[in-house]
Amino acid sequence: MSDDSNRPRRDKPVPFPQSRTTPPRSPEGFRDLGLSRLAREVGMVQPNLKGHWCSRCRGIWFGFVGEVECPVCGNRRG
Ligand SMILES: [Zn+2]
Repeated sequence: MSDDSNRPRRDKPVPFPQSRTTPPRSPEGFRDLGLSRLAREVGMVQPNLKGHWCSRCRGIWFGFVGEVECPVCGNRRG
């Protein structure tokens, strides 16, 4: 007889290694913080939007090249 409900759970999440300065390259390794305020005002996905790393949110937001402010937390230090 087999009883799957008695198996120990082994699917607990693996902690993601955190780095304050280096953006992870894995597509699932960061939070998607969405678009910058300016990019949203423009109202469409621009081909020249650039991904910006926010070390405070540990995620990446998308905005124009000259923008520096995270749309989620307001961090301007990357
Ligand atoms: Zn942020």
